Amino acid sequence: MTITTLERPVSLWPAAHAADARRPRSLQTKIGASDTVCARRAGYLLHGRTPTDTGEKRKAILGTYLHAGMLEAAREEYGWIIERRVEDDTIRGHIDAVQLDSRTAARLPKRLRPRLPAEETTVEDIKTKSTYQWDNILRYGASDAEVRQVLLYADLLRTEGFADIDGQRQLARLGPLPVGRIRFRFINRDSGDDHVQEMPFNAERARGARWWVAQVRAAETPEDLPRTFPGPGLSVVCDNCPFKTACWGPTIAGQRPQSMLIHDDAERERALAEYVEVSEQMKPLKDRLKVLRAQLDGSEPGVYGDNVLTWSGGNPTKVDDIDAMVAIFQRAGLPVPMAPDVAAMKAQLKAAGIPVPVRLDHERRTAVSINVAALKKP
Ligand code: SF4
Repeated sequence: MTITTLERPVSLWPAAHAADARRPRSLQTKIGASDTVCARRAGYLLHGRTPTDTGEKRKAILGTYLHAGMLEAAREEYGWIIERRVEDDTIRGHIDAVQLDSRTAARLPKRLRPRLPAEETTVEDIKTKSTYQWDNILRYGASDAEVRQVLLYADLLRTEGFADIDGQRQLARLGPLPVGRIRFRFINRDSGDDHVQEMPFNAERARGARWWVAQVRAAETPEDLPRTFPGPGLSVVCDNCPFKTACWGPTIAGQRPQSMLIHDDAERERALAEYVEVSEQMKPLKDRLKVLRAQLDGSEPGVYGDNVLTWSGGNPTKVDDIDAMVAIFQRAGLPVPMAPDVAAMKAQLKAAGIPVPVRLDHERRTAVSINVAALKKP
């Protein structure tokens, strides 16, 4: 039996967005390690600016739920120390997981000790990613911003220890800890695949991350800070940034936000010269890619060295089956709409040598292409 309802069932997303907005991280105005993705954005947060954009947060919310579920399972099953606060006077954050070495673990009361101590104290961060991002993760690992975030957590743990707050007093009593390693655990949101990337804790790189934070703190206004990403339409970080409009101004139809970065002809000249230079550098690479693509044509899918070859496309395309539609209408006793046969009329006009009449459609525009030619010098 088919059940029909007049109203659509209520969506869960408004509830999920409201709950997400109440999360401590969303209300944070002091700089958090997880806010160190973009210098300008960290500046907006630090100066307590009101977000200008709500952005699309559904994927991020799903990531948060998955993240919380995985960590909770690791705590229950392996006794992991999860979601613990670290801070000093300038920065704070929540470390996803800390694996203590056996000597440090032995200093904790038995009920708080992890079941499997680590070889060396390790600060671990879980990142959920989509399939779309997965190849980049396998090839290049964590981004600079992700490494910076975890280095800050690790450095806070190394210099301050766990924060002395309710719920983690015993951990705080351990004092500063000798962090030996940081680890990323990437989880593919679509397939469940996971990938681990580890690196030794590097005090020099941690100093670099601290310096980055110091620059953000030293800026008088957020506008004095550089934009770490290239802007809406070119970066998903910017597309989903809560300060997108504050950073790039309101959307102007037919104009890309980045065009605000060019103020006069001198800047236009420089950008154009760089555009030509980059195009010249890319040309031999594009030509080589075409040759390699042609050589690989017809190769069987499979694993070749470090790369996996697959093919997509090559399937018949779907077109409207007009005969089937007419048959359905006729069976239902409905009149079949009759439209002029445009293709036949065009063919007949062309055969008769009469130009096909056209008119301008101002609602639809052709794509705007940039054309740059060398100036002929006298
Ligand atoms: S819009 Fe992009 S560049 Fe601007 S603050 Fe946000 S993330 Fe940074």
